[in-house]
Amino acid sequence: MTTAALLAAPALWATYTWGSHALTLGCYWRGARADRKIALTFDDGPDPEATPRVLDILAAHRVTASFFLVGERATRHPGLARRIAEAGHDLGNHSWSHRSLWLAGPLRTVDEVRRGHAAIAQATGAEPRFFRPPWGLTNLALFPVLRRLGTPCVFGTVQTEGQRAASAALQVERARRWARPGAILDLHDADGVQGAGARLVEALPAMMESLRSEGYALAPLRDVL
Ligand SMILES: [Zn+2]
Repeated sequence: MTTAALLAAPALWATYTWGSHALTLGCYWRGARADRKIALTFDDGPDPEATPRVLDILAAHRVTASFFLVGERATRHPGLARRIAEAGHDLGNHSWSHRSLWLAGPLRTVDEVRRGHAAIAQATGAEPRFFRPPWGLTNLALFPVLRRLGTPCVFGTVQTEGQRAASAALQVERARRWARPGAILDLHDADGVQGAGARLVEALPAMMESLRSEGYALAPLRDVL
C-alpha cells in the first residue's frame, strides 16, 4: 500500500497511525522504579558540533548514556558514531532519515527501521539495541519489524526541551523537578529545534550535577530498563 493510498482512506490511516499508539503500551516509557537510576538519552545525532562536546562532558563526569542515532547522519559522520560506541554508550536506532512514520506506508516504515539499523551497525561495528521513533509517532507496520530486529521501542519519561526552545537554565530546572527513579530523560544533541545542541551542551554539566546531588545514579538504558 502506498502512502497516497493510505492518505486517501482517512479511517484506515487513522487506525494505522493513531490506532497504533495502543501498542506503545508495550514500549518502554521508564525504567525500574525500584532503583534510584536515571537514563540520559540523546536523540538526532551524531552532530559534528554538539556530539563531540557532549561526549567530552559525559567522559569528564564519568557518565555512560544512550544515543539514538539517525542512520543517515551516522553514515555521514561514521567517526563520531564510532566514538560514541567506543566510549561504551548504548546505541539506539532513531530511523534512517527521521521521517515521520505517520507519513510512511508499511514498506517505507520497514525500510526506515532496517536502513537506520544497518547504517548504525556499519558505522559503529555494533548493533543498536533499542529504537525510538522520530517525534514519538508510530504506525502499525513498525512493531513487527522491531520484534524481528530485537530492538524494543523506547520513549522518554521527561523531555526538557520539546518542540519549543527552552533555555539551558530552564532545562536544568525541569530535569531536577521532573526526575523520578527509573526516569528516561529525552535530550537532543542535534538541532531539530534551532540551537538545541548548543543549549544542551550548556545545560548538561549542571543537569548531571543536580541529579547526582539528589542521589540519582546516571546509567545507560541497559542498566535502567
Ligand atoms: Zn528525533
